[in-house]
Amino acid sequence: MDDVDCVVVGAGVVGIAVARALALAGREVIVLDAAEGIGTETSSRNSEVVHAGIYYPKDSLMARFCVQGRRGLYAFCLQRGVPFMQCGKLIVATSAEETEKLAGIKARAEANGVEGMRLLDRAEAVRMEPNLHCTAALLSPMTGVVDSHAYMLALQGEAEHAGAMFVFHSPVLGGRATAEGVELEVGGAEPMRLRARLVINSAGLHAPKLARSIVGMPTQLVPQEYYARGNYFTLMGRSPFSRLIYPVPVPGGLGVHLTIDLGGQARFGPDVEWIDRIEYTVDPRRADSFYDAVRRYWPDLKDGALQPGYAGIRPKIVPKGAPAQDFVVMGPGEHGVSGLVHLLGIESPGLTSAIALAEYVRDVALAA
Ligand SMILES: Cc1cc2nc3c(=O)[nH]c(=O)nc-3n(C[C@H](O)[C@H](O)[C@H](O)COP(=O)(O)OP(=O)(O)OC[C@H]3O[C@@H](n4cnc5c(N)ncnc54)[C@H](O)[C@@H]3O)c2cc1C
Repeated sequence: MDDVDCVVVGAGVVGIAVARALALAGREVIVLDAAEGIGTETSSRNSEVVHAGIYYPKDSLMARFCVQGRRGLYAFCLQRGVPFMQCGKLIVATSAEETEKLAGIKARAEANGVEGMRLLDRAEAVRMEPNLHCTAALLSPMTGVVDSHAYMLALQGEAEHAGAMFVFHSPVLGGRATAEGVELEVGGAEPMRLRARLVINSAGLHAPKLARSIVGMPTQLVPQEYYARGNYFTLMGRSPFSRLIYPVPVPGGLGVHLTIDLGGQARFGPDVEWIDRIEYTVDPRRADSFYDAVRRYWPDLKDGALQPGYAGIRPKIVPKGAPAQDFVVMGPGEHGVSGLVHLLGIESPGLTSAIALAEYVRDVALAA
């Protein structure tokens, strides 16, 4: 059994950011990931949007970390040459009823500390985006897109520079809490057992299962995992918009929106499809509902223009129909096992939030 200081399980954007924060705080860090490299699961299956922090309930972890994380992300990307584009986003109303909702969305965003939100009448919105059909819009100039892989690589580089070590093909199979630390059973080609003073479970979709597999962890505190797939359809040809376009949110989701990547390719989605197991195939028939939704704000969408893209899976910890769940950082204060922190339900805006979430996790972990 090898003794180590800190182990982070999971090299998605959040695990990498946590490893960086711990290493910069002078701790010895090993990151274990089951896959062959960084960011192969949810961190490479998302919209790559740098969210401003608009919709989340005031004082929630999502609201706090999204706003702080977004500021940290832009500053980090500028300094390290990570490609990003602060293109802005329009939330578009297509009826009088939706127009009335925009002021409330603006007020919530401002309560969260989001800068620069501005209501636009129809004429101003159409001047900015001539292909748009709307009755009014809300401009969020802080929203953008980032090259998520380049972002993760830069965070990993800094973590490694500060001494962190990344080990791939290393699935953590289970563990045991002891007085001397948390013992971990690691599988893969070179199975090993480690005893760590601190273990951060940042295993994304698999984090609840991993939490339950640690003997000594009160499993009744670990929420059940649920999966909500988000499917994307890509648009053939040039993007008709230069900003991200979102409808007014509907209960349970943000609606089918348009995002653009740094190459200028437009994609629509993600929708919400509750599934029982991890599976990423996009059913082409789901395009039907996309056409109707998109034509409300872009009537010129041609039949046949949408192609099945890719899918990502939201690591939910509440079932379909339940109120939305905040990020959960479950440390010794909650479960009583020293040296163990679980990150659960880290869905959107996890990419945007990573730096701020990681600093919070570091503080929870080091206070324990
Ligand atoms: C459809 C969709 C769209 C999204 N869009 C956005 C967006 O535009 N902006 C935004 O801010 N956020 C977005 N998000 C959220 C964001 O992608 C996630 O919050 C973020 O990627 C989560 O990162 P993570 O490191 O927690 O998890 P992951 O990226 O899933 O990483 C977990 C890692 O743990 C590893 N692992 C799992 N189990 C084990 C084990 N037992 N042993 C070893 N390794 C293990 C996996 O191999 C994986 O590498 C979106 C999410 C989805 C699903």
